[in-house]
Amino acid sequence: MPTILDKVQGVFAKKEPAEQSTTALQAAALTNPEGIQAATQAQGTTPAFDHAKVTVIFVLGGPGAGKGTQCDKLVKDYGFVHLSAGDLLRAEQNRPGSQYGSMIREYIREGQIVPMEVTIKLLENAMRAALESPQAEEAGKWKGAWEGGRGRFLIDGFPRKMDQAIKFDEDVCKSGFVLFLSTTEAVLLHRLLERGKTSGREDDNPESISKRFRTFEETSMPVVEYYRERMKVVEIDSSPPIDEVYAKIRIAVDAALAMVAP
Ligand code: AMP
Repeated sequence: MPTILDKVQGVFAKKEPAEQSTTALQAAALTNPEGIQAATQAQGTTPAFDHAKVTVIFVLGGPGAGKGTQCDKLVKDYGFVHLSAGDLLRAEQNRPGSQYGSMIREYIREGQIVPMEVTIKLLENAMRAALESPQAEEAGKWKGAWEGGRGRFLIDGFPRKMDQAIKFDEDVCKSGFVLFLSTTEAVLLHRLLERGKTSGREDDNPESISKRFRTFEETSMPVVEYYRERMKVVEIDSSPPIDEVYAKIRIAVDAALAMVAP
């Protein structure tokens, strides 16, 4: 069985092919035809943020895998800015006067992927705000990780679909690596139903949960596989208790950051 460190080292063992956009097109063709369109349209654009300065770690996993919980812990220890795609969408949904509010509500209740234009714009705006805010500068004194226009982001629950993955890399910032929290559907279901007792979330009910599981398997797992083929996935079993999972995540993140962070 490979250890976490083996897996982390494996992540960076293989260099990405120079013809990245062609590979992206091919992968998109295999997993999602819409991805092709996105990749084609995106060709030739320059990302908004330079990955030599801005480190982006995607945090993926099924609903209830513990993404938010583990991100909160990482923020405290590493000075990351944590952006949750779901939280940003819920905030936009509840923002008075938002033209997207009712559309977002419908997608979330149905466990569907909100159209990428909205999600990516929200993320890009939040990243820019964090990079420009004095608080980020203050929080980011952490080992100089936020000085001189640099920044470190944990983006959780994104990308959930191939088109988002390709568009974000091309238009916003090339991602560093993916932290993938894996566990069984039984564990996920148990956690979500527990959380649903107090979360007040419109999608923590059995009907929405089963739709979210289906969306994750059919639409989001191909994204994980896309990055796995590129040796960019660090997979951690998130079934054990929170602190046990976190201890493994720290080892993995330390090793991965040493290789990708500016
Ligand atoms: P979460 O808070 O991560 O459990 O996400 C809740 C819901 O928000 C999902 O079921 C989707 O409807 C929507 N959502 C979250 N992340 C994304 C994303 N990256 N793209 C589109 N929709 C998303």
